[in-house]
Amino acid sequence: MKQIVLATASAFILAMAACSGPAGNEGANSETDAPETDTGATDAVVAPETASEEGVDALQLIKLDCGSIYVSDLDIFSTAGDYAGQSDTFTDTCWLIRHPEGDLLWDLGLPGILTTQDEQTTGVFTVSLEKTIAEQLAERDLSMSDIEYVSISHSHFDHSGQVDLIDGSTWLVNQLEYDHMFPEPDVSEEAPAEDAETEGGADAGSQFPGFEVLQHEIILDNHDVFGDGSVIIFMTPGHTPGHAALLVNLPETGPVMLTGDLYHRTESRELKRVPQFNTSEADTLASMEAFEDRAAELGAKVIIQHEPDDTDDLPEVMR
Ligand SMILES: [Zn+2]
Repeated sequence: MKQIVLATASAFILAMAACSGPAGNEGANSETDAPETDTGATDAVVAPETASEEGVDALQLIKLDCGSIYVSDLDIFSTAGDYAGQSDTFTDTCWLIRHPEGDLLWDLGLPGILTTQDEQTTGVFTVSLEKTIAEQLAERDLSMSDIEYVSISHSHFDHSGQVDLIDGSTWLVNQLEYDHMFPEPDVSEEAPAEDAETEGGADAGSQFPGFEVLQHEIILDNHDVFGDGSVIIFMTPGHTPGHAALLVNLPETGPVMLTGDLYHRTESRELKRVPQFNTSEADTLASMEAFEDRAAELGAKVIIQHEPDDTDDLPEVMR
């Protein structure tokens, strides 16, 4: 079953790639050598129309609509076998985190080409997308070149689909997920040694050409994005080897934890159901326990990113 799911996802990625072509990553590639701290200054030169962009005085969390996923048979989402024959519609959310020191985009949703197509069905998945991330940023007088950082919870197709829109952002990624995306025969499975900024580029012919050209920074567990403890990317491995979740300490709302795909549904959180296609069930269960300990300790609001009940009725801007 695992092979079937992965083959389905791969087929979907390839189909999308065939539709969208090599897209516009050349711009991002040309900035590969730019120091991370110069990103803002570079943006001002490259995109003068964004000169009117106003930063924020305090941290904000904004949900973006990154598509809809109807699953005709949920069986693959539980190793317990109790989801067989059930169906459900997942929402697909991406998140804009606005900080006085810069902007972070968390997850990249379904492929933007879907905005020009009817819903697409591959295997048990039927996907659709109304607006790209760029279109939603434009509604806020922002452009992709305004975004300093991008990070994905993991590299599945519904979290990485709009990477071709990235324009100069630095991709924050841990070593385990990077190695999962760009496997090399001699790469150790050990945890990353230290924070280090490296240039984009990996083996050619990978499944992730859009990520290869990004400037990226290898991050450790509990990466403090803006250095003030307000936005923390932390590892929750198991769904993929380097799967991560996000903690946002909002000044008014309080701590908010975005699950990535640690959970897909409210019920899967309650019952601790592990998808059949996860890379490690044991790691997933350990990640769930650590995540719940952290949420309880912080008194955090937990948002399951694919769960409409968690994402439909949020304020337009969470502060
Ligand atoms: Zn997902």
